[in-house]
Amino acid sequence: MSRTSEAARGSAGGGGEPARLTPRALLFDFDNTLHDQGAAYRQTLAAAVGPHCAPGITVEDVAARCHASWAELWAAYVAGRLDEDGLYAAWFESMRAATGGRARTADLRRAYEAAEDATLQLYPDVLPALAAARALRPDIRLAVVTNGAARKQRARLEGVGLVRQIPVLVISGAVGIAKPEPGIFARALADLGVAAGQAVMVGDSPEADVAGAKRAGLGAVWLNRAGMAWPEGVAPGPDAVAADLQAAVRAALGSGA
Ligand SMILES: [Mg+2]
Repeated sequence: MSRTSEAARGSAGGGGEPARLTPRALLFDFDNTLHDQGAAYRQTLAAAVGPHCAPGITVEDVAARCHASWAELWAAYVAGRLDEDGLYAAWFESMRAATGGRARTADLRRAYEAAEDATLQLYPDVLPALAAARALRPDIRLAVVTNGAARKQRARLEGVGLVRQIPVLVISGAVGIAKPEPGIFARALADLGVAAGQAVMVGDSPEADVAGAKRAGLGAVWLNRAGMAWPEGVAPGPDAVAADLQAAVRAALGSGA
């Protein structure tokens, strides 16, 4: 256990937890854990809307407006007021408006989706970390537990080759429940065939991945690539903190971080 992880545990005020069993399963978040979603989004948007922005409108302006509209539309999707087609149709319409309205929505969408396919890639430590997990524990079971729209997130997971690497994929939009709700972790555990005490979640989000998993009875490793402070008021805290995915896997499997 590193000093950083002790600090995170202390600040989150843990304690009173049941003893952990030998992990039989590792669950991974996807966005910003296995790929750099922020960088991919900025690159994708720049490639798609850059040529279409009206005078005086920058890609950064469009990014800010699209980010805000996504938050609203995503809430409607999660609440069941929009389906996936409606979610993306409305979002690309908001993108067209944000650029100044000169491009056709269908052209923007085509450009965005082509650019997204080209920019989405795994962090370089992902495949080595999965190989290390299998080397440390040959019978380890692996899952991705991710919040996202059902078809789109599945396509992204297929696009980066994770479907071949990780057999269990639990996508919030497909199962109708999202992190940090305990039910999505329960769904993953059922698919994996393991108990909560035998599973460890690895992810970048303090609330969705760490606190959510801990409340559902799993272990949790906080992947903190940027060296951020644990946010005040989010609890329970992680069992360990790691700066890269290979360290996270070692910590999750009890081999030291
Ligand atoms: Mg994430």
